[in-house]
Amino acid sequence: MSTLFLRTLREDPAEAEVPSHRLLVRAGYIRRVAPGGYAWLPLGRLVLDQVTRVVREEMIAIGVQEVSFPALLPREPYQRSGRWDEYGSEIFRLKDRRGADHLLGPTHEEMFTGLVRDLYSSYKDYPVSLFQVQWKFRDEARPRAGLLRGREFLMKDGYSFDLDDDGLAASYAGYRAAYQRIFERLGVEVRIVNATAGAMGGSASEEFLAPTPVGEDTFAACECGYAANIEAVTTPIPDSPNSRTPGESQVLDTPDTPTIDSLVDVLNTRRAGGHDGWQAADTLKNIVLTVDGELLIIGVPGDREVDLRRVEAALYPATVALFDDFGSRPDLVRGYLGPQGELKARYLVDPRVVPGSAWVTGANEPGRHAIDVVCGRDFTPDGTIEAVVVRTGDPCPRCAGPLELRRGVEVGHVFQLGRRYSDVFGLDALGPDGRPLRVTMGSYGIGLSRVLATVVEQHHDENGICWPTSVAPADVHLVGLGDREAVASLAGELERSGLRVLFDDRTGVSAGVRFADAELIGVPVVVVAGRRLAEGYVEVRERVGGTREDVAVGALAEAVR
Ligand code: ATP
Ligand code: MG
Ligand code: MG
Ligand code: MG
Repeated sequence: MSTLFLRTLREDPAEAEVPSHRLLVRAGYIRRVAPGGYAWLPLGRLVLDQVTRVVREEMIAIGVQEVSFPALLPREPYQRSGRWDEYGSEIFRLKDRRGADHLLGPTHEEMFTGLVRDLYSSYKDYPVSLFQVQWKFRDEARPRAGLLRGREFLMKDGYSFDLDDDGLAASYAGYRAAYQRIFERLGVEVRIVNATAGAMGGSASEEFLAPTPVGEDTFAACECGYAANIEAVTTPIPDSPNSRTPGESQVLDTPDTPTIDSLVDVLNTRRAGGHDGWQAADTLKNIVLTVDGELLIIGVPGDREVDLRRVEAALYPATVALFDDFGSRPDLVRGYLGPQGELKARYLVDPRVVPGSAWVTGANEPGRHAIDVVCGRDFTPDGTIEAVVVRTGDPCPRCAGPLELRRGVEVGHVFQLGRRYSDVFGLDALGPDGRPLRVTMGSYGIGLSRVLATVVEQHHDENGICWPTSVAPADVHLVGLGDREAVASLAGELERSGLRVLFDDRTGVSAGVRFADAELIGVPVVVVAGRRLAEGYVEVRERVGGTREDVAVGALAEAVR
């Protein structure tokens, strides 16, 4: 540590909103470089490599092979799949010196499909499954919470290629089980939740959500084991107050529109009441704000310019996300999409913002959520709504028991893509009878940098990080207080026994500071080599639980393991 490129901080960085962000910066793992962009310091590299190692091992164990694509990609494949446009402003686009369009890869389905199509042609080649570990780029509307939502983040993305549905189901099951092992090894508690309504067959897409209050996803869970992202809970809830008939619908457009100042007032009042996690969206006509799952939609006439940056500035440092294209990203907004994809805000009116309107029963209460509603699927164009609200205590679609709503971070996502990309790129295998078979695919992602932050969210206390051994930057943090040479030789011995040692050999730093740093950095075992080292004893402290025990040096390597 006397030479390690590390400066721990006593103060919380001003911009850090969540524990993982605060602690990773303070303990010298990462430094902010740009919004959603972080430099990895030596300790940070070590932990990120640990996470990557675990994921890589489990991928290889199920027979997935590693490849690596560039991050800088040509436009053509993404144009062809439609995602150059669909992905909207989340794509980082750039031009080369000849004026040709490129993008920084947000995810690589197109590239993997093309690669397999280029090299494989016979049914005998299949199945095959490939993965990469790579930095992804997404121009997130609101990068936040340090590594949890970056604009550049490390992802393990895997893709399976099978000849039939059974094959896909088997590949999917293989990845799903591997993901369970990965999160188990990394010490991340996860819930596997349905991410789609199951229209494509039950397990078409599932997310691995790590329960934590700082998560941006909300999921409904039941004791029977049912769990779904609330955006996917579409079973009609019989007594839902939102099962309305067209006659009852309330039209939002009102001449009496809010001013920016009245809006800001409302927002500030709410914030003072302990809300955070603001998100706002803007079209020409509407501002959408969600507060801890409460939904607020404010109608603004189209001829009025709404300067949401002013709203954002007034609310600083609350998190306000500005989306300018949510018509194309219904998943960003829990609102009502009209027949043309326009946002309808008929029922969700805040009377404090739109004078003369009334709260719509149920829709805007804490713990209630309007969910990913799509015109035609969930309600008819004239406004009949089937089921749009889930709240704590609502009946579980599987067993009718009470649902509980919880927050989580999406750390992984497994997805049966089917033939969407093989159709686009013409990925066929020549069958035994000489006829082409269209390949079916799955895609499987884990956010490695996000997982790292999630580990910290789930493993920390007021003094610092408490790494699980599998992720820790070292196995032992050795603090030498006694004879320098004796301590140095102990460090050497520990290393020779195969342990990774973070050796605090600093001089001129008080013991108090060194212990505080050890707690902040969070290596699972701290060995204090002090006065008793001369008699052959050191003190072993466990980071979690704080137990302290004198251990004979000869038995140390064994005791630490
Ligand atoms: P989110 O809903 O949080 O925006 P996503 O559904 O857009 O995530 P996927 O496209 O499913 O993300 O990507 C696979 C994984 O990559 C996610 O499960 C998550 O762990 C990680 N990931 C996605 N976006 C980010 C980000 N901005 N920063 C860090 N990790 C991310
Ligand atoms: Mg996303
Ligand atoms: Mg998601
Ligand atoms: Mg996802």
